[in-house]
Amino acid sequence: MIVHCNMKIRPEVIWFLHPDQEYTDRKVEIAHCPVCEKLLVRYSRQGILTRKILSDTFSKGKAEKLLEELRPYREYTSLDLIFNKGIYGFRYGETKIIKKDGKKILVDSSVDFNGNKEIVREKLLY
Ligand SMILES: [Zn+2]
Repeated sequence: MIVHCNMKIRPEVIWFLHPDQEYTDRKVEIAHCPVCEKLLVRYSRQGILTRKILSDTFSKGKAEKLLEELRPYREYTSLDLIFNKGIYGFRYGETKIIKKDGKKILVDSSVDFNGNKEIVREKLLY
């Protein structure tokens, strides 16, 4: 949810991004404000080391620039989810860091409505 001009605005599209070296659970919400008609982009992510969730909202030129920067990291978008609904059932991505044998492992899973998980990818962090 994006807040602008004292309005709560539902995103038109959500991008789910691959983690980078610093952040996981990266998500970009894209919307247009119905009041001022500006392009709005809300970028949320969680620090892999700090576990802190950060979230910033940008508008107009800064929003466009951020979208260009983040576009290559897109794993899938909310539009892909809608598209895939009929074929695979509705699924969403979940990224978690788990500890196994003293090592930290980044696990990407695909989760359906019933909470059934399927691990898509595992990556050793350190
Ligand atoms: Zn506005």
